[in-house]
Amino acid sequence: MIFDHIIVRYGELALKGQNRKLFEKQLLHNIRQVITAFPDVKAKRTYGRIIIELHGENGSEVAEKIRFVFGISSLSLAAKAENSIESIRSTALAVFKAYDGSKNTFKVSARRAYKNFPVSSQKVNPAVGGWILEHTEETSVDVHQPQVELTIDIREQGTYISCGRISGAKGLPVGSGGRGLLMLSGGIDSPVAGYLSLKRGVTIEAIHFHSPPYTTSHALQKVKDAAEVLSAYGADIRLHIVPFTSIQTGIRDHIHSSYQMTVTRRMMLRIAEKVAGRENIQAIINGESIGQVASQTIESMYTINEVTTMPVIRPLAAMDKEDVMELAETIGTYPISIRPYEDCCTIFLPTDSVTKPLRGKASRFENHFHYEPLVEEAVQQTETITISASAASAGGIDSLL
Ligand code: ATP
Ligand code: MG
Repeated sequence: MIFDHIIVRYGELALKGQNRKLFEKQLLHNIRQVITAFPDVKAKRTYGRIIIELHGENGSEVAEKIRFVFGISSLSLAAKAENSIESIRSTALAVFKAYDGSKNTFKVSARRAYKNFPVSSQKVNPAVGGWILEHTEETSVDVHQPQVELTIDIREQGTYISCGRISGAKGLPVGSGGRGLLMLSGGIDSPVAGYLSLKRGVTIEAIHFHSPPYTTSHALQKVKDAAEVLSAYGADIRLHIVPFTSIQTGIRDHIHSSYQMTVTRRMMLRIAEKVAGRENIQAIINGESIGQVASQTIESMYTINEVTTMPVIRPLAAMDKEDVMELAETIGTYPISIRPYEDCCTIFLPTDSVTKPLRGKASRFENHFHYEPLVEEAVQQTETITISASAASAGGIDSLL
């Protein structure tokens, strides 16, 4: 097999200074995690790229694992040549022949990162192109729309030659963007919010509020399954399961029905903030989208948000429901979310919720309800489980690439 390396490229040109270093280190770490299945394969950082040494492993299989790691813009199977025109020419010819026999127009794009190499990239291009033309039949150079682009990357340690690019998952490496606590319900939206956060490099833990015996183990299972799908895009996910029954019955008994929804959300945020603080997490993430339902108007968010100073990130805030559903399909959470088991909110909530709840009124209602010990108790009795990434597979991400 001519291909003995993989070149990994990463985009995010906007990343600067320390951030870029952090990004590269985290990306290398995450790539190393997914290639542990191939013990001989090594991943190394070189200026602006990560190079994978295959040591005899199948490049396509390794690439198939790596391309789902967030932070990669593209990757290519590559062959390593020595830093001499002779070696570069013959390796380039072998790569071209191995790539795809049906393609016959090509272009050579050389890049000389190693400036001590004596031949400029403008001169490498015709030297290699001419060699390929001489040693193949019915091929021609097309610099504008070639069927094959032969990339020649000259570096101090050697020259990497590749053809074609495989798309990566884009985004930022998970672990480079801080830690967020995802409010995960059994619905369609919150798993998508989790996926989008992972894609921006955020490490997530999840929190779910359940109200047994009103909610069943099937409803909880949906959440565990959704968390498992998400874990395939990042790493293991810790899921915090909060017993919410006493708070929900308290709200039902003490709060005016038009404000029960608002107060329920405020209680969830109070508990989420405490759990986040305990776990050293600095943001809460949820699946709210502006205007979707009564509890998700801007006015409602304003009133709900009063109870915490922690950032509440809403990745779906400005998305349409159809687009969210499509993304849920693509990432593989949709079939789980549409299973017919309801979570806590749906079971308790009345139909006359106000769409523009006021902070003052919400507080006044809450004053009639001695909720603090219940919130404390819910935090204390929260059970934490770890959803393992090893069992999971990344749904239909293929169609995203
Ligand atoms: P989803 O489809 O994610 O359930 P939704 O459109 O049904 O969202 P709501 O039920 O109003 O909206 O919930 C808004 C957000 O609040 C959810 O996206 C989720 O982040 C959070 N949330 C709702 N219920 C729960 C719950 N039982 N446990 C944890 N988070 C919840
Ligand atoms: Mg819901």
